[in-house]
Amino acid sequence: MNVNLEALLYLVAAVAFIIGLKRLGSPRTARNGNMISGGGMALAIVVTLIDNEVSWAVLVAGAVVGSLIGAVLAMRVKMTAMPQMVAAFNGFGGLASALVVGAEFLRGDGEAIFPVEVILTMILSVFIGAVTFTGSMIAYAKLQGLLSGSPITYPGQKVANAALFAGILGFGVWTQATQQSLPFVIVAVISLILGVAMVIPIGGADMPVVIALLNSLSGMAAAATGFVIDNSALVIAGALVGASGIILSALMCEAMNRSLTNVLFGAFGAVSEQSGPTVHGDVRSTTADDVAIALAYANRVVVVPGYGLAVAQAQHALREVASILERRGVEVRYGIHPVAGRMPGHMNVLLAEADVPYDYLLDLDQTNAMLPRTDVVLVLGANDVVNPAARDDSGSPIYGMPILEVDHARTVVVVKRSLSPGFAGIDNPLFYKDGTMMLFADAKKALNDLVAALDLV
Ligand code: NDP
Repeated sequence: MNVNLEALLYLVAAVAFIIGLKRLGSPRTARNGNMISGGGMALAIVVTLIDNEVSWAVLVAGAVVGSLIGAVLAMRVKMTAMPQMVAAFNGFGGLASALVVGAEFLRGDGEAIFPVEVILTMILSVFIGAVTFTGSMIAYAKLQGLLSGSPITYPGQKVANAALFAGILGFGVWTQATQQSLPFVIVAVISLILGVAMVIPIGGADMPVVIALLNSLSGMAAAATGFVIDNSALVIAGALVGASGIILSALMCEAMNRSLTNVLFGAFGAVSEQSGPTVHGDVRSTTADDVAIALAYANRVVVVPGYGLAVAQAQHALREVASILERRGVEVRYGIHPVAGRMPGHMNVLLAEADVPYDYLLDLDQTNAMLPRTDVVLVLGANDVVNPAARDDSGSPIYGMPILEVDHARTVVVVKRSLSPGFAGIDNPLFYKDGTMMLFADAKKALNDLVAALDLV
């Protein structure tokens, strides 16, 4: 293919990636954004295939098998298992980059044929790709329950990790100097080990941040590979993934009021997962019938969904309750905390699945502005994101984390199964406040009971 035409088509693909990414920023345009980015990627693939002399039979066979596996997985995966699916995809992205660069390196067959900048990029790509692969597999195993979600720590862990990193540097320098296969393969092997070593000390519940970071790394590995094989579309796509993954990691950390260093090296959850709930004060337990009355006679209800709603798959039952209330003239809105659930956007996707109008979803600031003028807040399987200790108790591990200030509403109804803590492993003073009523039940059952009870009000 003509070089100019190829560059032009790659440019079109890159523009499609950027427009697609921009449109992914809102639920209303996200589907379309996905299609545009996908179209750009299809164009980039076709151009690459036409441009290179490749065995079409092998590629088509690979594409068919890969697409089939991807489609089946995407259709089957439960919303609560989405983080581990993303982890697996990132991991394979990193592995693909490492393998492509590995194949390119071995073409040299020990001869020093690559300029210094190319060999350095190869080392970087195989390093990042291999760390991403094994790191993502550990993240997957932790989230899937194949490995314990608690941080796995041992004495001297950080020194051991630093030694692995030093080993990669040393063999990287050797590779650069000689372009021999042996040190290059050793760099890859140590990087695979480092990926495992870096992720095992991180608690299961911090995995979404780790996944966003690994996603970013897989993008960087792809961009580096793009430089090596001189493919500008890969460089641009990789850079976009790299940058957006970093931005997402930073946003998640900000919403939890934690630093990235604390997430990566703090072994958060090591203590809290062992410590049970510390009950203080009395709680007021209520029934679905009483809650139905409170809801039915309210002017405004704000629903705060959390991880428990996702686990219970109660979004459709929630929509039913909201529809009944709306028919009675009650205004129903949804307060979405940026880290409610276990991945960014978790609640938005869940509620979109149940056809909740996008306009009814309020962000943290909008919700907090509305709460003092709200009659009833229905907290559904959410805990940490409504914990007033984050605002009031400077000794709390989550002090400073922005919360939904549900205690500013007239009445708070918390639906959960027990007084057990959420991800942060700490007690929640909200449960003991005067205006709070606890409806102890599985979220789906509670909502189904509410549907029945509302019929009688
Ligand atoms: P939490 O993890 O704080 O609380 C969830 C609550 O749901 C639990 O207390 C549990 O109580 C309850 N629950 C579990 N199963 C059910 C069920 N079947 N029915 C009803 N309730 C149930 O969730 P939040 O959404 O409030 O907070 C998210 C937490 O995750 C935050 O700490 C955040 O920092 C963290 N996190 C979020 C990320 C993200 O991107 N969203 C990323 C990393 C961390 P019980 O067992 O009593 O029912």
